[in-house]
Parts: sequence; C-alpha cells; structure tokens
Amino acid sequence: MSSNINTIAVLGAGTMGAGIAALAADKDCKVLLLDISLEAAQKGKDSMISERTPMLKDISKIKNVEIGTFENDFPLIKDYDWICEVVVEKLDIKRQIFEKIEKYRKDGSIVSSNTSGIPLRDITENMPIRLLTDVCITHFFNPVKVMKLCELIPGEKTNPDIISKLSIFLEKIMNKGVVNGKDTVNFIGNRIGCYLILKGLHQGKVAREEGLVQEEIDNLMSKPIGLPPTGLYGLVDLIGLDVMYSVGKNLEINLPENDKGLPYVNLPKVEQEMYDKGQLGRKTGGGFYRIKKLENGEKKKEVYDLDSLNWREATSISTEGNFNTILEDTKQGNYLWEVMGSTLAYAADLIPEIADDILNIDRAMRWGFAWSKGPFEILDEIGPINFINKCKEKNIAIPKMLEILINSENNSFYMDGKYLTKEGIYKDI
Ligand code: NAD
Repeated sequence: MSSNINTIAVLGAGTMGAGIAALAADKDCKVLLLDISLEAAQKGKDSMISERTPMLKDISKIKNVEIGTFENDFPLIKDYDWICEVVVEKLDIKRQIFEKIEKYRKDGSIVSSNTSGIPLRDITENMPIRLLTDVCITHFFNPVKVMKLCELIPGEKTNPDIISKLSIFLEKIMNKGVVNGKDTVNFIGNRIGCYLILKGLHQGKVAREEGLVQEEIDNLMSKPIGLPPTGLYGLVDLIGLDVMYSVGKNLEINLPENDKGLPYVNLPKVEQEMYDKGQLGRKTGGGFYRIKKLENGEKKKEVYDLDSLNWREATSISTEGNFNTILEDTKQGNYLWEVMGSTLAYAADLIPEIADDILNIDRAMRWGFAWSKGPFEILDEIGPINFINKCKEKNIAIPKMLEILINSENNSFYMDGKYLTKEGIYKDI
C-alpha cells in the first residue's frame, strides 16, 4: 500500500501547527496553513524560517507553504489529502473546527487532531459517519523537527486503511517513529510521563522532609535513571506549570475510576500557589529556577526554595546513582522508588488499557520523552524479580505485565530480539 498523501492542510499555526507544516513542506508536500487571522498564520510561517531556530531543514521549501484564515479560506481544504487540526487544547474549539472540516473536505481525505490528551470520541461525538471512518489522532511531540514520536490513535469506527496509509506516510516520508495507541486520556507518552511528573512533585515534599534538597531531586531524576538532564523541576519549568495544571484537570475528568494517578491530579499546595501567582516556568522568567543577571553581567542560577518560599542560589550537588538506586533503601532510593518505581508499576498495569504491547510503551517514552530506556527496558535492567520482591516488601500488588512474566517462567521482557506479549509468549520485534 502507498500512502497517497501529497497535500496537507494544517489548521492552527502555533508552535505545533507550524512545526507539522514545516516538516511536511520539507518533504515536498503542498501545505495549506490556516489560523484565526492572517497575522497568526504569517507568524507561524515566519517561525519556519526564523534565523535562530528555523523549523525547516531546507528554508527554500517555504515555497511549499500557502497561508490563509479560517474565515476566508476554509473551502480550500477540499484539495487536500490530509487535514490536521492543531488549534488550542479546548474541546469546544476543536469541535467547531471539526464541523467546518466535515463541511468542506473532499471524500476520502484523512482528518486528524493533534490534541495532547482529549479523547477523540469527545471531539467527534455525534458527528457524521462519513467523518468517523476517516478520523484519528496524530499526536506529535514538541519540537516536531526533533522528537521522533508520533502517536497514532484510531477512533472506534476509523477505517483501518486510513491508519495504514498514515503510518506509511509518517514513517517513510516524515521519518517519524509511529506508536499505536488507543483512545484513552493522554494516550501513551503523556499518560505515563505526566504520572511521573505529578507524582514526582507530590513526593518531592516527602523527600525534602527526609533531607533531600531540590537540586538533588533533579539530579536523581535525570541521568542516573536515564531521563533528560532537566530533571523534574527543570522539566516542569520547560513545560510550564500552567500546562501541568491543565493536564491534571483533564486527567481528573477522564482517568478511569480507581486509577493510580487520581491522587496526584491536583498540584501540591506550594506548586498551586506558584501557579496562582503566575510563576509558571521559563515562559514567565522563572518557576522552580530562574537565571538572574548580576550587575557585572554574569549570570547566576537561582532556585525557588519550596520550603522557605524564597529564592536562593542554586547549589551544584553531585548525586551518584543508577537504575539500581530505585531499589535501594536510602533517602535517594526511597524517592526514586516512590516516583520512578511506581511509574514502572503503573506502566506495567496499563496493558492492554492504553497499548497492546510493551514495545509501543517503551518506544513512546524513548521517542517522546527522551528516556534512554523505556519502562520495560528499565525493569529488565534492574531485574524484574528484584522489582517484584520490592513490591512484595512494600505490600504493593504485582503489576499485570510482571505477573504475566512470572507466569511465563521467564525473567526478562526482552530476549534475543523478541519481546514478551500480553499472552505471555515471545514475539519478534
Ligand atoms: P499554540 O498556542 O502555540 O497554538 C494554538 C493555535 O490555536 C494558535 O495558532 C491560535 O491562533 C489558535 N487558536 C486560538 N484560539 C482559537 C480559536 N478560538 N479558534 C481557532 N483557533 C484558535 O498551541 P500549540 O502548542 O501549538 O498546541 C496546539 C495543539 O497541539 C493543542 O491541542 C496542544 O495540546 C497540542 N500539543 C501541544 C504540544 C506542545 O508541547 N506545545 C505537544 C503536543 C501536542
């Protein structure tokens, strides 16, 4: 099967819309980029060729991009093979755009939303069957040019040919790593990644009471366990506390009853106060960290002390650790067990709810969150039996995939180029 996708209409020219449009234009697709005003669309187009961080690899490909507005140019989408909605993360606005898409698109065109976590069934509720068969989620990660992951999620009535065509296009033409998810809140990467972040913030208070300083928490939550160098608080500064707040609200509404993430959907007290006063992260000049310019021109990194509620100079503490620290009975180990250990257990309980196999989960975390290893690869690294023993010691129910592993009488999720399926047998990767 070939993809037969040559023309793409991108609706929304913000960070992600411009990124997706640039990627397609780079690959010589004809791109239509629409937004609420010509200024907004032009701003998106300009960001593709910005001098400092151009989204296009080859800036001459800007010729492939035409811009317009929702008000005047929507009918043009009739000439496009794939219509990708990338407007703000608001259900009612996405639904309005979808209604317009259905009115103007040609038969057989593919329609997708780039939502970070709103279920597709909510976006398309009560919409015509003509749309429901042609619709899916294409969830790219930021920055689109850099991050390999695109989660692809069909709706209940989506024609499987649409998913095959898009998969081929995303992998072969766009050079993305496609992960197959399900229509569940926050899909795969954000479901697991946001659990880690929110649990990490809540557990941070306990860890500080046990004597860990914030910088140590960030050191632990980075290289030692294969996460990017930002650590936890640094990552939230990058994402924005406002985004984490909204993610929590979405999770609160859409997580299944009894989900282990439910106790952590609200920000902890101090983080909520930071949110309330607009101390959101890099976008507001500071969140957990800020860079202060001294009179002599030098720059000083400061940390917002979550206990004294004052800014102080950030300390450079060196923190030793590796994947095995997760199982150690030390204050560092306790924190990592509660945060990373419980995230591994959470992931191992989410098959088949969010994905059919460990491959899709591991790839989502490596390609979308830049983890050096996915959850099941980490479990193999520390030894699934060691992990199970720690669960028993802590009186935690053995997570589903670990139960399947023990029942299969094996001791690793990956073996000789094969992976363990939910049926308890090994399959070629
Ligand atoms: P953005 O704020 O940069 O862009 C949003 C776009 O929506 C803007 O171009 C804006 O003009 C448009 N818009 C605003 N109000 C509108 C309205 N009433 N009607 C129509 N359009 C309107 O946001 P973004 O980061 O590009 O996010 C877009 C989508 O991608 C969201 O669904 C978001 O959840 C998702 N997403 C974002 C990221 C990320 O890291 N930024 C990652 C993955 C997915």
